[in-house]
Amino acid sequence: MTKAEGSKPAQSELKPDTKVTTGGRNPHAHHGYVNTPVYHASTLLYRTAEDYLAHNSRYSYGRRGTPTSEALETAIQELEGPACAAVALLPSGLAAISTALLSVLQSGDHVLMSDSAYGPARTFCDSVLRRCGVSTTYYDPLIGAGIETLMQPNTRAVYTETPGSLTFEMQDIPAIAEVAHRHGALALMDNTWAGPLYFKALEKGVDLSIQSGTKYIGGHSDLMLGTVSASQGAAQRLKDTVYTMGLCVGADDMNLGLRGLRTLAVRLRQHQQSGLTVARWLAQRPEVLKVLHPALPGAPGHDIWKRDFTGACGLFAIVLKPVPEKAVLAFLNALSLFGMGASWGGFESLAIPVDVKDCRSVTVFEPGGPAIRFHIGLEDVGDLIADLERGFATLAAAK
Ligand SMILES: *Cc1c(COP(=O)(O)O)cnc(C)c1O
Repeated sequence: MTKAEGSKPAQSELKPDTKVTTGGRNPHAHHGYVNTPVYHASTLLYRTAEDYLAHNSRYSYGRRGTPTSEALETAIQELEGPACAAVALLPSGLAAISTALLSVLQSGDHVLMSDSAYGPARTFCDSVLRRCGVSTTYYDPLIGAGIETLMQPNTRAVYTETPGSLTFEMQDIPAIAEVAHRHGALALMDNTWAGPLYFKALEKGVDLSIQSGTKYIGGHSDLMLGTVSASQGAAQRLKDTVYTMGLCVGADDMNLGLRGLRTLAVRLRQHQQSGLTVARWLAQRPEVLKVLHPALPGAPGHDIWKRDFTGACGLFAIVLKPVPEKAVLAFLNALSLFGMGASWGGFESLAIPVDVKDCRSVTVFEPGGPAIRFHIGLEDVGDLIADLERGFATLAAAK
């Protein structure tokens, strides 16, 4: 018997922290090295002409998968749990969104998309899908089971994002998925905010759960990656679509994704803790009207978060009491530890003004003052709060 093999627990019995560190690894298939090698690969050689004609090989071509891609897919699948039948890797989060939609829709179909969805997801519906003869209706993210009234005979997909990554509306995913299934449609979700560590999308009824791996899986602002996790019913069409479209991820980015995944649980805990500390501090400030952080008691959507989620990441927003725009910009420009950038999930803190004027069509976001979105990184939380204090002093001077 080899070391501890006989008593090794099944993956499904392991806790999330253990899954992210062990998932997809098989050191003794690689001379004992802890990490799966990075296969830079296109052509695959067969031993004989007979093998070639019989496709007698575990792998067939770089685009169709390597030990590196398999390791990352397996690790994510184990994290999602037994409801996940397959994982597809895509070159970006947006590619994951567009591919997931294409895998379930065809000409003549109808899709329902949350009005709070990531802006470029809307653009994909309004351009490529429209040209393909697929129509889109946007709906109020807070609609819940009321989505029933919007289902059409040709509705094949209901697309959700929870919380909305700019405005933090919490959607009732189990209720929406139930209605979708009853009408013969699939439920899609952008689960980038919580990821499978904090929201088990597939167990809650989602058929295709999308993540921008660029965010927390990467975790260091140095790669582009997207993932789609599929239920049994959605897996084959997803895999076929990815293959037919010729989509694959570069070996080094997959390796960075694997490296990021190993520390995902510990990083997310810190993002969550520091995020809540800063959110609570902001909630006490006289300049702040409200805090849009689903994990904060009393915040919009907190009840749904508490019912369905097991954690929160470091992304949330605040609404300031009304001040002139120049004071908001002075506040943001005064911050030295918060970068001015949109793509979050790295180790660094960010703060940007929330601007949704180009990505809303059936609801209005009028929170009562200017909104600012924060990503709380891994810096010392006391340093971050001191930076925000300086920002508020500059805001007061600029009013
Ligand atoms: C960033 C982001 C995306 C897009 O991901 P990319 O990897 O940048 O293409 C999609 N959805 C959400 C919620 C995001 O934050």
